[in-house]
Amino acid sequence: MTQTVGQNSIGFPVEGTSLQWVLDQIPVGILLAEAPSGRIVFGNKHIEAICRHPVIPSSNKEGHKQWISYHADGTQVQSHEYPLVRTIETGIRAELEVHYQRGDGTRSWIRITSAPIRDSGNQLIGAIGALIEIDTQRRNTDELRQTRERLEAAINVAEMGLWTWHVGGPIIPDGNLATLFGLRQEHVDGGLSWDVYYSRIHPDDRATVEAARRMALATGGPYTPEYRVLGLDGEVHWVAARGRAKLDVNGNPLSLNGAVLDITDRKRTEQALRESEERFRTLAAAVPQLIWTATPEGDVDYFSEQWAEFTGEKATDFHGWRWEKLMHPDDLADTVAAWSHCVKTGEPYEINQRLRHHSGEWRWLLTRARPLRDTNGKIYKWVGSCTDIHKQLLTENELRRANADLESFSFAAAHDLQEPLRMITSHTQLLAKRFEGKLDDDSREVMDTVVNGAKRISLLVQDLLAYTSVARNIEQPREIVDLNRALNRALDHLSETVTGTNAKVRTTPLPCVMGYELQFVQLFQNLLSNSIKYRSEGAPEITVEAERKGVNWILSVKDNGIGIDPEYHKQIFGVFKRLHDQQIPGTGIGLAICQRVVERHGGQLWVESAGEGHGSTFRFLLPAMPEEVALKFSASKL
Ligand code: ADP
Repeated sequence: MTQTVGQNSIGFPVEGTSLQWVLDQIPVGILLAEAPSGRIVFGNKHIEAICRHPVIPSSNKEGHKQWISYHADGTQVQSHEYPLVRTIETGIRAELEVHYQRGDGTRSWIRITSAPIRDSGNQLIGAIGALIEIDTQRRNTDELRQTRERLEAAINVAEMGLWTWHVGGPIIPDGNLATLFGLRQEHVDGGLSWDVYYSRIHPDDRATVEAARRMALATGGPYTPEYRVLGLDGEVHWVAARGRAKLDVNGNPLSLNGAVLDITDRKRTEQALRESEERFRTLAAAVPQLIWTATPEGDVDYFSEQWAEFTGEKATDFHGWRWEKLMHPDDLADTVAAWSHCVKTGEPYEINQRLRHHSGEWRWLLTRARPLRDTNGKIYKWVGSCTDIHKQLLTENELRRANADLESFSFAAAHDLQEPLRMITSHTQLLAKRFEGKLDDDSREVMDTVVNGAKRISLLVQDLLAYTSVARNIEQPREIVDLNRALNRALDHLSETVTGTNAKVRTTPLPCVMGYELQFVQLFQNLLSNSIKYRSEGAPEITVEAERKGVNWILSVKDNGIGIDPEYHKQIFGVFKRLHDQQIPGTGIGLAICQRVVERHGGQLWVESAGEGHGSTFRFLLPAMPEEVALKFSASKL
């Protein structure tokens, strides 16, 4: 229904006239107000559609406040701010965008424009207001503004240069282009020619850029050259251009637009990467091992030059999993299983396997690999090495076999010699007894020599047996050995000698260590008996002590004996090495046994002596028991 409000005193008839019909057809809200009261005298059909309520009558300007609407900042629009009121008051056009509170409770953006209505005498008699819904328009404008802001932010953050070029015109730069090309903004303000543009490009790269431009213009395709330019800072910068040419329907070039980005850092990183890759390859080629790398999935992607030297085959033919072809069939399953496991778990890889040498021989290699991880712990590469251990393995095997043979031979020999030796000794002694007083001096001397010789051989055999058995025991599990107990047992065995020589043995508390007690008894026995045997004039004085040094114990057996010249400090530990003739009996094996015992327990043995007449101190280092074992042990003793 057409809204005609109150009496139409505006001076022009609307209701029922063709003007009303026309106004009702317009898809714009129309309001008429009279001057000077501001009374609304007419509203067309569309007003109701926009406001979703009938026209609100108002008898004066104040009445306009019944139309509730808001500014963009949320404050309510006052009566005098409405364009109709303003036009009536001022006689000129007015415009306002308001957020209108519609009859159905929703809000809509409306643009109100008003214009004065004057009579033939130019007297202001009223105002006409047009109301248009601008919700969509505002939304689009907002989106457009946001997109533009985002684009500008991106261009600024990326320090990107933009350019537009229409064929025949100058290049129009935008964004950071001037700075990137070492030009001041004022130089590029009216656009720049291709000559100026090219003059900033590194001479070596100009041809590349020109070729890219020609290609893009000829095909309408992308323009993507990367080249060097001289920046404002005077430094050479790498830039990447990304653009596209536009052609008309006949294929003639119209324009070329795009962006330029500084990629100096990327180029530097690429260069550094290339150099580091080169260094790695040079290093890999220089070491005696064969070096290789693999992808996180376990596919070999690089073999150093040694691959070709070893296999006689081209490395690249064996990338991926193709190296399997050269692997010994008996080692293949284990190798593949181990490698797959490590690739899956990231555990370090280590395996011995045979690879076919170019001579056709299968050679043993020790292969190891470790994963390289990025800052997030993700594996990005495996680096591996193969060391030719063929000779070493064969030599070790032979040595082990030879050692084992020797050990069992000397053990068997020493063991089997014991019985006949005992027989010789006892029968010679029997013979000596039987012929006592009946032999002349010469014969007695011969007899004594035989008896002594037999005794010495027997001693030697016993020592040899002790020496070889140090290695034999090693298969048995180690136990906690109380060294005080071992020392006391050794002293028990030597009690006669100790008493006989009036020796004084001072002992301090000794620690417990892991190992074999009998071997330590033997060790103390040999060292103590030497201290007594190699005594000087007075009675032997011996001190046994222990001192903790970090994770080790250092034990010492110190005597006041004849001492040892520093020249012989190393030599005396060798088998059969003695510094004396048979005036002081001995086999020269005692210290060799001691050294073997200490070494088998992971330690070291050495002697300190200032030389003849200064006594000797034999020291040996032994690893202390792990803390938790020691604690458990002392707790069990409480
Ligand atoms: P043996 O005592 O049977 O000769 P060892 O291997 O026990 O053989 O000792 C090697 C040599 O080291 C001895 O011959 C001796 O000259 C010297 N020696 C060992 N212990 C001492 C010591 N406490 N004082 C002086 N010399 C020693």
